[in-house]
Amino acid sequence: MIVDLRSDTVTRPTAAMRAAMLAAPVGDDVFDDDPTVNALQDFIAALLGKSAALFMPSGTQSNLCGLMSHCGRGDEYIVGQNAHTYRYEGGGAAVLGSIQPQPLAHLPDGTLALADIEAAIKPDDMHFARTRLLTLENTLGGKVLPLSYMEAATSLARSHGLATHLDGARLFNAAVAAGGDARVAARAIADHFDSVSVCFSKGLGAPVGSALVGSTELICRARRHRKMLGGGMRQVGMLAAAAAHALDHHIDRLADDHALARRLAEGLAAIPAMQVVPPQTNIVFASVQGGRGAALLHHLKSQGVLATGLIGLRFVTHLDVDTAGIDRAIAATREFFSA
Ligand SMILES: *Cc1c(COP(=O)(O)O)cnc(C)c1O
Repeated sequence: MIVDLRSDTVTRPTAAMRAAMLAAPVGDDVFDDDPTVNALQDFIAALLGKSAALFMPSGTQSNLCGLMSHCGRGDEYIVGQNAHTYRYEGGGAAVLGSIQPQPLAHLPDGTLALADIEAAIKPDDMHFARTRLLTLENTLGGKVLPLSYMEAATSLARSHGLATHLDGARLFNAAVAAGGDARVAARAIADHFDSVSVCFSKGLGAPVGSALVGSTELICRARRHRKMLGGGMRQVGMLAAAAAHALDHHIDRLADDHALARRLAEGLAAIPAMQVVPPQTNIVFASVQGGRGAALLHHLKSQGVLATGLIGLRFVTHLDVDTAGIDRAIAATREFFSA
């Protein structure tokens, strides 16, 4: 049995989720005819306190449709250097949206300094791109942005006439980490933003899909962009049913993933050669002394434990890993250093 900690995207649909997919009534969603998609969109919009939502094939397309719905050709969005929309989406905003990114360095907690945001907003002058949008991400590399920060950053943006977008691929991880009712916490985060993108295919455990939520006017524009980008889907209720099932059954259990991440971090941190960042949600970053990271990944793989090494060692917990798997990952790491 492989312990796959490369990402929370590797989950397979549960038997109950597959049953929900099989039973879903469907129709042609480009004609607005898919009842399961329509129900999912109504549900996620209401959950996050917005008037409308759009089901998307991927988080990348959801973010891009959001950005393109806020910004036109020659407009600019302010974004973190490590944000997914800037760093990990192939430059889509610039390539396909003609939107110029203005990336800013993150503070250690993942936020962007308010003074940096303010300084990056360009005056209305023909020399400059028009700064139109602030985009934040929560969680960012597994870190939770404080609610007070999101409130301050978005009101700063608004006071300068900027719109606000949240890449909430892992919004529900942030909401669960906040404690209390995760639905209330998710809504409280979304309240600060004009649009929010959420992924169903990460910790929530659906095989595919994201949603963009926002005002009816914004979602109407996003629908046109989604079609243009090739994301108009037909009898897609089978996938929307998986997302709906995930929202009904897989939000609160994200706390289990967070607990497993803490267990893994504690186990790895007890190994002298490892430096481990204490996780706030389901992502554990670690580094190894003496540049032995690649060798460790190779050894782990030989023991059936998968992780990634793109930006330091990264281990992500999810629905398809359990305590035994985490303990195997810790034991295999220990074994590498004792060999
Ligand atoms: C995964 C992810 C996305 C989009 O993902 P897709 O793979 O395109 O579905 C966007 N933002 C963040 C922060 C992500 O982790």
